[in-house]
Amino acid sequence: MDGQASRRRYRLLGRDGEFYECEQPGTLGGNSRECIYGRLDCPAALAALAGGNVYAQHRVFFADEAAAIAAGYRPCGRCLRARYTLWTRGGVPNTAEYPWLFLPPSELSSHCE
Ligand SMILES: [Zn+2]
Repeated sequence: MDGQASRRRYRLLGRDGEFYECEQPGTLGGNSRECIYGRLDCPAALAALAGGNVYAQHRVFFADEAAAIAAGYRPCGRCLRARYTLWTRGGVPNTAEYPWLFLPPSELSSHCE
């Protein structure tokens, strides 16, 4: 399973909102139309992807959560419910002022950049 797979480049959305290529796949997915980020296995995202290719056109990926937040995305209310609740209480869209950024790293850690 080496060869092509090991040389694959993934297109990720960076903190500055610009796309870049990375050898590692993203850890989070997102919807560029609604500026929402969530888990790669988010039930809402998978259902939308299964529903046609319109959603796929707006599908983006992030190396980590900090990148998604910096790019102006907010957490998904379905798969990241705890974060979404925090966001509705105090997170400020288009800023890095999300409470959990100051918590110890979670399972959503960076591996690229
Ligand atoms: Zn989700």
